[in-house]
Amino acid sequence: MSLFNVYPLFDITPVKAKDLAVYDNNGVEYLDLYGGHAVISIGHSHPKYVSAITNQVSALGFYSNAIQNPLQESLADKLVKLSGCKDYQLFLCNSGAEANENALKLASFHNGKKKILAFKNSFHGRTSAAVAATDDLKIVAPLNAQQDVDFVELGDLRTVETILKQNQTCAVIIECIQGVGGLDQSSTEFYQGLDKLCKANNTILIADEVQSGYGRTGDFFAFQKHGIQPEIISLAKGMGNGFPIGGILIHPEIKASFGLLGTTFGGNHLACAAGLAVLDVIEEENLMQNVNDISDYFMEKAKSLPQLKSIKGRGLMLGLEFNFPVAELRKKLIHHHKIFTGSAKNPNLIRILPPLTIRKKHIDVFFEALKKEL
Ligand code: PLP
Repeated sequence: MSLFNVYPLFDITPVKAKDLAVYDNNGVEYLDLYGGHAVISIGHSHPKYVSAITNQVSALGFYSNAIQNPLQESLADKLVKLSGCKDYQLFLCNSGAEANENALKLASFHNGKKKILAFKNSFHGRTSAAVAATDDLKIVAPLNAQQDVDFVELGDLRTVETILKQNQTCAVIIECIQGVGGLDQSSTEFYQGLDKLCKANNTILIADEVQSGYGRTGDFFAFQKHGIQPEIISLAKGMGNGFPIGGILIHPEIKASFGLLGTTFGGNHLACAAGLAVLDVIEEENLMQNVNDISDYFMEKAKSLPQLKSIKGRGLMLGLEFNFPVAELRKKLIHHHKIFTGSAKNPNLIRILPPLTIRKKHIDVFFEALKKEL
């Protein structure tokens, strides 16, 4: 049977990895500055993570959500400790798209409204709000999505206000730093204004932290820099360091009832063990501080590139923007220097989303390679 061919693939077959090093089937070592799309938070095959999963699978890998699973509570407690989001409730699922679907559904259940407001160039997974950049990202929208989702320019509070006042919008969903769309962010004034407008119009604010969360920006969540209080926060990617797990944090004003949400695999024992190990390592290795230190170092180094147009993003969710398309440059980084980087909707942008365990020596290797190729 052939595979359903939806991804253009690089001709590399990774078979092994350790921290930032990935090895292919010929034993060639690559430096991973992409982390499998911001998924690898604590480094590949971290020993604590490996033993947590191994121990758990040999004890009990899975049982249904109809039976007590104390690991879910431990995960919730640890999340509160590291994120400071103490008043929220946790619902676990399997991916970012699923987290956002549940968030949108909950918002609509809560206030009885149906429409969604999202921002241009945003990306929220293959959900009904995933259509933001439909043409450019070649995402095929569900047939009804064009009617249900209003897309607004990032930063345009006036249009947000006009739409929310029509009292049809159950939720506004936003990435405080846009990922796939190209690392754009707006001002604190905008995010605070948005939060106020949502609260004034009985609309749920969903912070999509699927990519920007879990310490990647130096704060546990990217929205925390702006002092806002989203009613729902969606999580995935870095949460499991490669083990599929997602979730939503839900403000207590939204009440749970039996059957409101559900999932077979979400929050299973193995996923929780992986998620707990990730949080333990983030805490024990002080990785959020490392994010800030390495980010500063990266920014300084980037300033010395005369060809650079701008540096985008923050923490270890970074983009280097040039005045020319970077596809060839990225290929050279892979083939000549064995360095993985990422792309974005903006063809002139190299995306950097490394494991949060990255050190200065890795940044040095990257800039040396980049300077050679430029
Ligand atoms: N939200 C954001 C901000 C993302 O970047 C992504 C994936 O890239 C998603 C949601 C979807 O996550 P998943 O691919 O796990 O469904």
